Amino acid sequence: MNRPPICVRISRAALHHNLAVIRRTAPQSKVMAVIKANAYGHGLIETARALAAADALAVARLDEAVMLREAGVQSPLVLLEGVATAEQLTEAAARNLELVVHDPSQLALLQESASTAGLVVWLKADTGMNRLGFRAEGFRTALAQLRAMPAPPREIRALTHLARAEEVDVDMTSQQISRFTALTHQARILVTSIGNSAGIFGWEAARSAWVRPGLALYGVSPFAASRQRPDLLPAMSFLTTVITVRKVPRGETVGYGAAWRAERDSRIAVLAAGYGDGVPRSLPNGAPVLIHAQRVAVVGRVSMDMLAVDVTDAPDVRVGDAAELWGTGLPVEEVADWAATIAYDLLCGVRGRVPHLYD
Ligand SMILES: *Cc1c(COP(=O)(O)O)cnc(C)c1O
Repeated sequence: MNRPPICVRISRAALHHNLAVIRRTAPQSKVMAVIKANAYGHGLIETARALAAADALAVARLDEAVMLREAGVQSPLVLLEGVATAEQLTEAAARNLELVVHDPSQLALLQESASTAGLVVWLKADTGMNRLGFRAEGFRTALAQLRAMPAPPREIRALTHLARAEEVDVDMTSQQISRFTALTHQARILVTSIGNSAGIFGWEAARSAWVRPGLALYGVSPFAASRQRPDLLPAMSFLTTVITVRKVPRGETVGYGAAWRAERDSRIAVLAAGYGDGVPRSLPNGAPVLIHAQRVAVVGRVSMDMLAVDVTDAPDVRVGDAAELWGTGLPVEEVADWAATIAYDLLCGVRGRVPHLYD
């Protein structure tokens, strides 16, 4: 097979499909595609290019936005954490970035700057997440200050972030949405943004002028497995290769710490992928890996460059065969459950040493 021993394959068609599903679900909303953290591990620049049809892109930090602009990406680009210094503000304005303002210190920077007149500012309301943003009173004050600036921003929009939108049967999301709607209505801000992926698919009222999907774009359901998944396609497949197959007699152990013991004479395949590539070290004995479309079980501890699987019941497995750690045949959500974490963590944890191939 003509591919590196380990790689992630990214399907542009899946990204396009997922964007289309989001547009169908929120037909009145513009889509701000969230590509922070190396596009959740999918590759910042290539993913931005593949999602050029989104109405805007969003990243967390200035350096991510600068990389995109340097690569020639011209989409509207939102800095979700805004800027922290006057130099950053000047650069952001020069690069035509839209800024989230979530803290009084950022308001002060804007007030002291000469480069605010062309800006689009997203004022962030804290409606209960208690991470970033202004609570109601502070929001009104911040807005008044922005509007009173000698060179007010070209446009002031508002956003808030939902703390538990993936839990469709709790009140908190409705409360957050109604607080935000009351606040922005009273403030006469028409352009608003609420829903992340779970908000988009779980809460009609979270589909305001703009939606901000991350996870769903990459084909991952934001909901627990018990709830029907939206019609999304996984964009990433994390692939590796069998580099040796060995017999392990009953009673012997495999790997560091002798953390797995053979209860029968076993055939063990070693794969070229470890925690140094982004395979979670917390994957326990029994976690699934896909070889020849068959599930085989992780045995022993994941090491830096390798992990082992039990192929006793998969006698056709040979050196050189491909194995899927997660992707189109093995949902990353499921692997994340095994690793006691969330899909976000696995996706954005793929290390820089792993080549990305784009289909
Ligand atoms: C990361 C992020 C998103 C995207 O969230 P998903 O759950 O991945 O859809 C949206 N808005 C903000 C402010 C974010 O930080």
